[in-house]
Amino acid sequence: MTLNNAEKDYYARHLSLDGFGEAAQESLKSSSVLIIGLGGLGTPAAQYIARAGVGRIGLIDFDVVDASNLQRQILYNMSDVGYEKAEIALKVLRKINPHILFDLYKEKFSVENAQSLVKNYDLIIDGSDNFQTRYLINDACVIESKPFLSSAVEGFEGIVGLFDKKIACYRCLYPQVDSSQIPSCSDAGVLGVTPGFFGLIQATEAVKFLGNIGECLSGKVLKVNLLNWQIRKYTLTKDKSCPICSENPKIKHLEEEKIMCDTGVKTVSKEDLENRKDVFYWIDVRSVDEFAAGHIAGALNIPLDEIASRKHDLPVDKPLALYCLKGKRCRVAYDILSQENIPNIHVLDVGYESL
Ligand SMILES: [Zn+2]
Repeated sequence: MTLNNAEKDYYARHLSLDGFGEAAQESLKSSSVLIIGLGGLGTPAAQYIARAGVGRIGLIDFDVVDASNLQRQILYNMSDVGYEKAEIALKVLRKINPHILFDLYKEKFSVENAQSLVKNYDLIIDGSDNFQTRYLINDACVIESKPFLSSAVEGFEGIVGLFDKKIACYRCLYPQVDSSQIPSCSDAGVLGVTPGFFGLIQATEAVKFLGNIGECLSGKVLKVNLLNWQIRKYTLTKDKSCPICSENPKIKHLEEEKIMCDTGVKTVSKEDLENRKDVFYWIDVRSVDEFAAGHIAGALNIPLDEIASRKHDLPVDKPLALYCLKGKRCRVAYDILSQENIPNIHVLDVGYESL
């Protein structure tokens, strides 16, 4: 899609950029993005994506602006409190870039509309703040073969990745909602700039992906802690038994994700260790000396008394399986990590001495 003169003026700094230029700009113009949720992630993402010149942007949100949103949702101001986010966002974004088209959906992203919405766009941006919506986005995108950029933030840190069923989907990473799930921002505290930071990463990845430049976070998850600048990048692997993107999926059509309220400890068995070892990261919570004397091959040693301080060392691209000598210390570690909102933890139901 060629650019007219007004567009050439607007995007002048892109057009003169080596490695971007007219080809990438035209590619953005002929692309479309659906932004689900116009909150802390969606508002910064929407601003930059609109300014970058993505030709058609779908905006979906059913909520109204609340004063407590303003610390991080940068499209709104005090005079917008009580008004619909989607309407306000549309008004602001149209003023920002008159050269692009917008589709507005003032509704909840739901089982009923999910597939028909995602199938009309090239890329989906998950700006939601809860697990049910995230799973629904994943499942709709897998069924419709659409890539999606997902991010989750809490406090001072977050993760972001580009999921695509050809490589790995969100359920390959987290097969179902975990009982130790991260609470939504409405419950938990979040530094205002944290979703802003991750929304900008989503916008950056969208521009790269749709402009066909650079190396995207495809099949990767980036985890960043803004307090200490610990940055980690993980490569996702497809789970051959994934409930939705494997060859024989258990999930065949969209359903509301049920939150498991069972707060009991989730366990893995000796058989899991024998048959599905690579599905988990094995964490040995015994002492350094015990670990040195023998351990599960490939396990990471984090002694129990260091588990809280070293929670940032825990990988996020696979479920964790904790073990110790008799199965007691790993349950204490499980409780500590659950209180720290670390998702997807299991304990080995027998001790290392019984293996
Ligand atoms: Zn999958």
